Amino acid sequence: MATVNPPRGMRDFLPAEKRRREQVLAMIRDRYEAHGFDEIETPVMEDYARLHGGLGGDNEKLAFTVMKRALTTEKLRSAADPADLADLGLRFDLTVPLSRFYASHRGDLPGVFRAIQIAPVWRAERPQKGRYRQFVQCDIDIIGDATPRAEAELLAASLDAFSTLGLRDVTIRINDRRALDAMLDVFGFPVTDRPGALITIDKLDKIGPSGVAAELRERGSADEAVTALEEFLDGLAEPTEPYGAAQIRALLPQGIPEDVVDHLVGIGEAVGGPAALRFDPFLVRGMGYYTGTIFEVEHPEVSYSLGGGGRYDGMIGRFLGQDVPAVGFSIGFERILDLVELDPAVGSEAVVLVHDKDVPVAELLAHKEALVASGARVRLEQRPRNLKGALERAAADGYTVFATVARGQDELELKPLAEPSE
Ligand code: AMP
Repeated sequence: MATVNPPRGMRDFLPAEKRRREQVLAMIRDRYEAHGFDEIETPVMEDYARLHGGLGGDNEKLAFTVMKRALTTEKLRSAADPADLADLGLRFDLTVPLSRFYASHRGDLPGVFRAIQIAPVWRAERPQKGRYRQFVQCDIDIIGDATPRAEAELLAASLDAFSTLGLRDVTIRINDRRALDAMLDVFGFPVTDRPGALITIDKLDKIGPSGVAAELRERGSADEAVTALEEFLDGLAEPTEPYGAAQIRALLPQGIPEDVVDHLVGIGEAVGGPAALRFDPFLVRGMGYYTGTIFEVEHPEVSYSLGGGGRYDGMIGRFLGQDVPAVGFSIGFERILDLVELDPAVGSEAVVLVHDKDVPVAELLAHKEALVASGARVRLEQRPRNLKGALERAAADGYTVFATVARGQDELELKPLAEPSE
């Protein structure tokens, strides 16, 4: 028999889970809107060439490709180039589509555009815990502001969202791709060696300074450069100051351009009360499209990142022919869901009306409409043989109270579903 399961790495959601997801999404959307961001929507597919323009880094390789319609067997056999077979693909993130959207609608958008995008993306990853092939991202982006105020606004809105969700222990690590590059320059890594060296440096948390040095030497980085990096890493102490000029300067070697340091300092000054922020000079974050600031969110209860983002000042220019500064922040929705504890009282009262078979429809609808008018969510259920089982299922679906309804009954007695009894 053919399988009835969804495709690998993709999921169905039962009503209770779907409701929970929507409640959390509504909380995030509400906070983003409160901070002056406006929601947009783009198609789930983009042109193949746009998705494979070299902007999406490793994620491009994970893109699902959509074949041209009405391909004949002959065309399939004779194709020399993937572009002959496929012209579209499913979006692997929301940043490439946003840049295309901005280039297309710039004339209708404000000078500084603050966008919300809450939508699924697709990546052909090997599925595992917290890693799916279809997953929802919650992005905010600011296009048209090159100053640290843009980063600060993103951080303030995101911290507000995390705090509303009860995730008060998040830490947002911050770095700047230009600082990373300048640091490697100071240590003596030639330009051509830096992208490869960054892939190794990205593993610092896992393999430590000596592991990083060993791997860099193995891959052929210059010995003096590796030694300079290792000595610098060994000399680093945990910062005692909060995020700000003192913390940033203590964690960077001499020789980093002042405008880069000023930008990093400016972010902290603009956010205010930056207890959740930490400067991490060795945060790398993928190799993709970032040109400046990068962020990553961590939480003590999980080992993977809960979100991240950064500046991609070069991307819109690829679509528009003119550079426009842009910076974004993405909450990895699937990964925060498990950590959020929702107040069961959130949302309207949910009522199951268990009625006898002979109650006239008009009577049932009158009861239902009175409850609906008072703001409740109401499900009708004809009294089954196994009432206890039905009530338990309703409770699992998020219903909170029930009442039994007999023919001609005027008043309903609502009882909590947690302890169903008649
Ligand atoms: P990225 O676009 O790769 O920077 O990812 C942004 C955020 O999306 C990450 O910080 C994760 O929280 C989340 N994320 C990335 N890949 C997956 C996946 N395969 N499944 C679920 N969440 C993911």
